[in-house]
Amino acid sequence: MEIFLAEKMGFCFGVRRTVDITMKIIENKEQNVITFGPIIHNEDLTNYLKNNGVNYVTSLDEVDPKKTKKVIIRTHGAKKEVIDNLKSMGINVIDGTCPYVMRVHRIVEKLSKENYPILIIGNKDHPEIIGVIGYIINDVPYFVVKNIEEVEQLKNEGKFEKLKKIGIVTQTTEKIDKVRKIVNYLMDFIPEVRYFKTICYATDENQGAIHKLAPMVDIVIVIGGKHSSNTIKLYEIAKSYCYRTYHIQNEKDLDIGWFNYNDKVGITAGASTPDWVIANVVEKIREFSEILRKGECHEVT
Ligand code: SF4
Repeated sequence: MEIFLAEKMGFCFGVRRTVDITMKIIENKEQNVITFGPIIHNEDLTNYLKNNGVNYVTSLDEVDPKKTKKVIIRTHGAKKEVIDNLKSMGINVIDGTCPYVMRVHRIVEKLSKENYPILIIGNKDHPEIIGVIGYIINDVPYFVVKNIEEVEQLKNEGKFEKLKKIGIVTQTTEKIDKVRKIVNYLMDFIPEVRYFKTICYATDENQGAIHKLAPMVDIVIVIGGKHSSNTIKLYEIAKSYCYRTYHIQNEKDLDIGWFNYNDKVGITAGASTPDWVIANVVEKIREFSEILRKGECHEVT
């Protein structure tokens, strides 16, 4: 069996930065540290952190100031109010928010200070968007939309009628084609439209790499959380080239029955998959390769 790794896979810059911050804390054996929300969507990593004393909370009510020295803000960020409240409890806040997400915070803060109503293109329930909304000040109106249909609906309800201006930002994982449509649509009837390109292309690089790799191999293994949207996207792309594509969370999900002794195996991983999980998968496939090779030789002789 030959193993081929996608040129680009696994942690993006923002995730790596937050994970490194957290690992340093574990390395230094610091006590009473928690993260606000799971720092990334990956069970293996969350369990690792938990086993090493770094648990996560999902609300301020769960934070006990007497037992908490440091709180790490996760890659997706958090509302400004959350950070301010933690600080007022005397807790040391380590901001692990991805710098690209922080930029969105600064933009909406500035726009709302200048009284621009704000349109956010993204998923209103996603932690990144919940955090972004938390930076809107001055009670300016804001709207969160997933697609052009939702914008049209708002228009039909008269929500944009009196608007002379609007500021637009997007969730970092949005697709440019969709955003273009929405911006163009609003430009038709709102006199001043200020659009800020806040899309991050880090996950696109992983997708580009699997477009290249999948057609060249016999089987593709996609590693990542079952609910990780960028991992599911990688799976869909790989599957469109290679019907023997499997989505696994870690090496324990691998099945030797999927492989032939002479397969070319392609491997990719979602943006929240730790390097050690990838390494374990590679190791396990090497073991399978050895078992299948011996089996094949035995048959031949
Ligand atoms: S995908 Fe982009 S915005 Fe999101 S954490 Fe990674 S680098 Fe930051």
